[in-house]
Amino acid sequence: MADESGHREGRGDGAEAGHEKDTVMHNRLQDGSLKLYELDRELAPIDAIRVRREYIGKETGTTLENLAIFSIDVGRVTKRNCENMIGTVQVPVGVAGPIRINGSHAQGSFWLPLATTEGALVASVNRGCSAISKAGGADVRILHDGMTRAPVFATDSVTHAVQVCDWVTAHRDELKAAAESTTSHGKLADIVTFVAGTSVFVRLEFDTKDAMGMNMVTIASAKVGDLIAQGTGARLIALSGNMCADKKPAAINGIMGRGRSVVAGIALSHDLIKSVLKTDAKSLFEVNYRKNLVGSARAGAMGFNAHAANVVAAIFIACGQDAAHSIDGSTCITTVDITETGAYVAITLPSLPVGTVGGGTSVETQQECLKILGVAGSGTPPGTNAKKLAEIIGSAVLAGELSLLGALAAQHLARAHQQLGRG
Ligand code: NAP
Repeated sequence: MADESGHREGRGDGAEAGHEKDTVMHNRLQDGSLKLYELDRELAPIDAIRVRREYIGKETGTTLENLAIFSIDVGRVTKRNCENMIGTVQVPVGVAGPIRINGSHAQGSFWLPLATTEGALVASVNRGCSAISKAGGADVRILHDGMTRAPVFATDSVTHAVQVCDWVTAHRDELKAAAESTTSHGKLADIVTFVAGTSVFVRLEFDTKDAMGMNMVTIASAKVGDLIAQGTGARLIALSGNMCADKKPAAINGIMGRGRSVVAGIALSHDLIKSVLKTDAKSLFEVNYRKNLVGSARAGAMGFNAHAANVVAAIFIACGQDAAHSIDGSTCITTVDITETGAYVAITLPSLPVGTVGGGTSVETQQECLKILGVAGSGTPPGTNAKKLAEIIGSAVLAGELSLLGALAAQHLARAHQQLGRG
């Protein structure tokens, strides 16, 4: 393992061990009598990772010594998070803040861990945090909370399709009991049906407490899907019918919400806009109007913001969230209202799937980042940690939007990137 000064301490996965057994394994991998994934059955996780990496190194003519450096518990990670593991990629983590937040769940000052290789991002968020904190803190609230899965069923006719919807409505309590029999935390909160020709989509929405919840709701939805098929004669085609909608930018998530829906705003005085953002309220408003609103509309974008996904992705990677869900960050709407005293800037994130238990949240480095925010593990009561994390991310997105809008309004964007983002 390397420390900050670049020294290696010989930790990690024992890359220099040079086991003779490794050569035997490599030969078996080469002749096809052993599959890469079968190494986990024959070797301890740490050895399987080394043998696999060295084999890939040989196959591709590469030296993968840096992938070999890590400190995380690979025993758990190889079981829960990553198959065919060969090492880890190191992503620099910077910190922005402190940011003052006046939420329902997040209250106080927070340092934001941001994992990124995009120069200028942390500095930009930092500047937004400064503006927000000087203005007294971000107002932030959770508007809606519900993780969804939408199985798709095939029916015989459009009348059968409507019968299936009616059956679902009539058997709501039974479906809820079945779903909740699969989890001690999840609660089925809503069921909405959609018909397209002979296809029926049943969008199931769950309160997943502190879990992001995709595994939880998928398991519960399987039980519900079977009951619907048995009760209606409809064929369950796929547990995910894409009206969930998972990891695709989709209007349904923007309108109905998915995961935690968050709104955050800040009132900035004329003085603060001038001293921290180096611009004025009118210019902030105009950049937001012409870029985030008109430009996004003209481009047919699903989101109306400057770079919300940048901040969402950086916190997601740092905090063990499912990075693919940073796509949801791109559907943020940023608004600027001119006020008598300056401007009120707000962001609305309709779909932010986040959790503080499960998934990647227990990987040690990611867990440390969650601890920086005071949200690692279960909240008391369950659900409060995930909501707090969502409010913090909403506030961080607001900071990022403020800073970039300010840089654009002051014509400073290219200069900042020239100074901070170039090798
Ligand atoms: P998970 O790793 O399956 O763990 C969640 C479980 O933790 C819950 O089901 C719950 O068990 C338990 N738990 C303990 N304390 C809890 C608390 N305070 N609040 C809520 N639950 C608590 O995590 P997940 O969030 O359901 O799923 C996240 C993973 O799903 C990520 O790795 C993501 O990449 C992956 N993913 C899966 C799919 C899919 O279709 N399966 C799709 C996208 C992403 P009980 O239910 O027994 O109470």
